[in-house]
Amino acid sequence: MSHHDVLIVGAGHAGAQAAIALRQAKFAGSIAIVGDESEPPYERPPLSKDYLAGDKPFERLLIRPPAFWEERGVTMLLGRRVTAVDAAAHAVTAGDRIGYGTLVWAAGGGPRSLVCSGHDVAGVHAIRTRADVDRLVGDLPATTRVVVIGGGYIGLEAAAVLTKLGKQVTVLEAQDRVLARVAGEALSHFYEGEHRAHGVDLRLGVTVDCIEQQDGRARGVRLDSGELLPCEMVIVGIGITPSVEPLLAAGAEGGNGVRVDGQCRTTLPDIFAIGDCALHANAFADGAEIRLESVQNANDMANAVARTLTGTATDYYAVPWFWSNQYDLRLQTVGLSLGHDRAILRGDPATRSFSLVYLQQGRVIALDCVNATRDYVQGRALVLNRAAPDPVRLADTGVVLKDL
Ligand code: FAD
Repeated sequence: MSHHDVLIVGAGHAGAQAAIALRQAKFAGSIAIVGDESEPPYERPPLSKDYLAGDKPFERLLIRPPAFWEERGVTMLLGRRVTAVDAAAHAVTAGDRIGYGTLVWAAGGGPRSLVCSGHDVAGVHAIRTRADVDRLVGDLPATTRVVVIGGGYIGLEAAAVLTKLGKQVTVLEAQDRVLARVAGEALSHFYEGEHRAHGVDLRLGVTVDCIEQQDGRARGVRLDSGELLPCEMVIVGIGITPSVEPLLAAGAEGGNGVRVDGQCRTTLPDIFAIGDCALHANAFADGAEIRLESVQNANDMANAVARTLTGTATDYYAVPWFWSNQYDLRLQTVGLSLGHDRAILRGDPATRSFSLVYLQQGRVIALDCVNATRDYVQGRALVLNRAAPDPVRLADTGVVLKDL
């Protein structure tokens, strides 16, 4: 049985950053990353943006060049899936058994699939891995009409790219607005208008009955109303299920993710969890237990674990931030808007450059900034300090945020 001082499960953003940060902190022990994809760690955000559009080759998505891992003494065990964790024996099963001193679980999540007939026929795609997108792109030449199920960031980004590629795109959202889980109403309505202006057929408050097929390929999406939306391609973007089964089976606490403490320790000895799969009490969500699906969270949690393993432990405390590119709109968000009781508009959405500042009991908890990088950069301090500026000045674009 091979043995590594630190074994990282998942060769994604969090796993890669954990290894990078450990070496930066002069960790001298052996490190291995076991990942079930065949590629070395790469950036996932471009998968629904420039990589899907064909504007960025895969090599430019790599988090580090392949030689980096060898030079830093990080063993890559790719194309291997961990199926079981034996916490008492400090070993995992990934085909063979692999022993560890410390296990860092950074396995992210897998796309949730639809529960309806036709969900697994050819022409139905998810966007989570490079392989997913390569398959999807392979189907594009034979595709005129695309139905995107789910009006979250990934579905909307894909809709924007495919519209630009000349496809007829329909987006289906079960809620009464897009981005309902993550953004305030005004932002949702702005993006709904943008997509419609670009020719997307956006349907809100609709539910899917099934995916109709012909000869094993999707030929349309049937709504609960009975209407059939004919298409050659379906993209399902309805969120992820955290990949934590082996850990939960080994006895770790959790459910929707694996529960971790302030230093990303699970309830099992010498096992940490980071990134999309880590259920943690977040200071920017009033201490509520949440999972954050963002590069920021993956990297900052990885850094927190590296600090703990190199003797400089400090709790995970980082302002959440995120971005999304759709058409020529760059959205940058800072903080978490969930739970806001007031949203203040800075600027005019008609100019396609504006910000929404979210308040809770008069204090700034988050900003969504569309083509407004200055607000995003300066607004961070307002979120960090939970500032309580005068709402009239906050709405005044003549006042720069750093003066508040
Ligand atoms: P992942 O990057 O998903 O890595 C986990 C890895 O573990 C995967 O390779 C997985 O296959 C592997 N794995 C799972 N189970 C096992 C197992 N049992 N054994 C071995 N390996 C396993 N975030 C932003 O901040 N901004 C964006 O604009 C943005 N856009 C996105 C667009 C898309 C299309 C997607 C999919 C995500 C986007 N995200 C964005 C989210 C961001 O990519 C994730 O939050 C981030 O990748 C999380 O990192 P992670 O390491 O936790 O998980």
